[in-house]
Amino acid sequence: MSDNTVTPLAPLTLLGTGAMGTALARTWLAAGHPLTVWNRTPSRAEALAAEGATVAASAAEAVAASRLVVTCLLDDDSVGETLDGVDLTGRDLVNLTTGTPADGRSRAAWAEARGARFLDGGIMAVPPMIGAPRSGAYVFYSGSAELFEEHRETLAVPAGTTYVGADPGFAALCDVALLSGMYGMFAGVTHAFALIRGEDIEPKEFAPLLVSWLTAMAQSAYGTADRLQSGDYRTGVVSNLAMQVAGKATLLRTAEEQGVDPDLLTPFMTLMERRLADGHGDEDTTGLVELLAPGKD
Ligand code: NDP
Repeated sequence: MSDNTVTPLAPLTLLGTGAMGTALARTWLAAGHPLTVWNRTPSRAEALAAEGATVAASAAEAVAASRLVVTCLLDDDSVGETLDGVDLTGRDLVNLTTGTPADGRSRAAWAEARGARFLDGGIMAVPPMIGAPRSGAYVFYSGSAELFEEHRETLAVPAGTTYVGADPGFAALCDVALLSGMYGMFAGVTHAFALIRGEDIEPKEFAPLLVSWLTAMAQSAYGTADRLQSGDYRTGVVSNLAMQVAGKATLLRTAEEQGVDPDLLTPFMTLMERRLADGHGDEDTTGLVELLAPGKD
């Protein structure tokens, strides 16, 4: 005789049904998880009621409804305001609100002092990627490993899960480190398009060249990581700093010839010059990490 018993999916509560919260909520509802939601502006949660969510009248009522409580609010202050005076005893609080590493650490201590286990999350996706197969969306998690293991399957419904350690600040740190890398790339893309602006080169024809070059160059991060870990910045160097600093004049002169403000380019060039002046011409750019973050090893 076959066992037709179906294990019920874990219920959960979500505080915050803005653009991201709504996208998360829809995936849990579609997967069949009983979901209680609360939003400061109730009208923004109404559509989810029609899709099967229970809308709580207050944050306290929503928190009381489930052991697993997810927050996806604007910022850390809004998490504090929303949960002020709410009984968190025995709750598993997963905070998907973007914050700094210090926010994650202080929010963890705050939650633990109120009898809750805590996991911080950094969402590496925009709302349309949530629940979309093969979108590459994932969430960095850090904090209570026990909480993460216990709710892993539920947390994996909207997006992939990457647990980065017990330190509750690490999810935010990894999130912000990736975003910061992204802005460096955006700066380069902006400067490159500024250089060709007004010339007889179509941006749409130029874009694939830029993308394939940046994709190839992004691989250099692996070499940087190897050198940072070994402490040997000279091995495996293919473009040394002396050559790169010499080449910088060409980049700056080209910007000048094209009438392009070099503001996005010069800070990195200045760092390379400083490292060269310190006698590191046979390294590549790995040593600039030390200039930016001195005395941290
Ligand atoms: P929205 O602006 O769409 O929603 C913000 C949410 O926070 C709303 O539910 C809003 O309630 C609530 N809120 C704001 N202030 C308070 C407060 N003082 N008290 C209670 N609730 C408050 O933002 P998103 O949903 O897009 O973002 C939510 C989180 O997700 C943010 O931390 C964001 O950084 C993060 N995130 C968002 C991404 C995105 O692309 N959207 C990508 C990755 C992370 P109300 O409706 O009443 O205003």
